[in-house]
Amino acid sequence: MKIVVLLKEVPDTYGERTLNLETGLAERAGADNVVDEIGERALEVALSYADANDGTEVTVLSMAAEGATASVRKGLAMGAAAATHVVDEGLLGADLGLTAEVLAAALQAEGFVLVVAGNQSTDGQAGMLPVMLSELLGVPGVTNLSEVTITAESVSGVRASDDATMQVSAALPAVVSITEALPDARFPNFKGIMAAKKKPIEVKSLADLGVDANDMTASRSIMLSVSERPARAAGVKVTDEGDAAGQLAAFLAENRLV
Ligand SMILES: Cc1cc2nc3c(=O)[nH]c(=O)nc-3n(C[C@H](O)[C@H](O)[C@H](O)COP(=O)(O)OP(=O)(O)OC[C@H]3O[C@@H](n4cnc5c(N)ncnc54)[C@H](O)[C@@H]3O)c2cc1C
Repeated sequence: MKIVVLLKEVPDTYGERTLNLETGLAERAGADNVVDEIGERALEVALSYADANDGTEVTVLSMAAEGATASVRKGLAMGAAAATHVVDEGLLGADLGLTAEVLAAALQAEGFVLVVAGNQSTDGQAGMLPVMLSELLGVPGVTNLSEVTITAESVSGVRASDDATMQVSAALPAVVSITEALPDARFPNFKGIMAAKKKPIEVKSLADLGVDANDMTASRSIMLSVSERPARAAGVKVTDEGDAAGQLAAFLAENRLV
């Protein structure tokens, strides 16, 4: 079985993250970029299945800037057999529609039985890509799984909502997305890091995939303007001179908080 894991490179959440107010795009060049942790967990799901099932091939797929090779290679060091890295200047500022189209084209080109993604990235946070991919690929999308069971014919799992816990299942081929409830990913060991240097990374452009980033008849969203969030206003300080409760109640009522 071939399992493709979607790994996204993101600006480190522990570092400084900034938005360029002229372009409206996230500043990726100066940021500390890392593999999104949820993507690493997705890879762990695939590798754990491969550990127990001979004949499983796990690969990683990433659409990211040219400098993201180290992140892609980390997936190989963890245990993936090969990687595809989609790089193209036309992808700068790609929205969800274009990203989904590109990843779907790459998945169709390399073939898959199961695609495993994170449920939501830590930068874009759309939480939409996996289901958009399943639509474009014409396969079931089983999203937000907090437990995953893979067999030769199907993928099933548990999806928790606010009010209920659902058992969901789909026949393969399928796309699944997983949540942070799944186990932490393994660390790449020395052997894995050395082996990763020899594993293949196929670099593909938009032309290779037959996707036109400028085709505005496709479902693309356009950002019209961007502005910085206003600085937070200072709070109201209530000094208790015997009437604090009244002042607090008046404040809450005035701000429609009660
Ligand atoms: C060079 C470059 C610059 C970009 N600049 C911007 C920018 O400045 N602003 C902006 O809004 N968007 C930008 N994008 C696109 C953006 O990074 C996302 O890939 C896309 O919009 C998906 O949104 P999301 O992460 O919110 O998706 P979600 O639906 O939250 O992602 C869920 C899961 O889908 C998978 N996934 C998502 N994106 C990718 C990916 N690119 N590669 C592999 N797997 C993925 C991961 O498994 C992830 O956990 C850029 C892309 C590239 C290549």
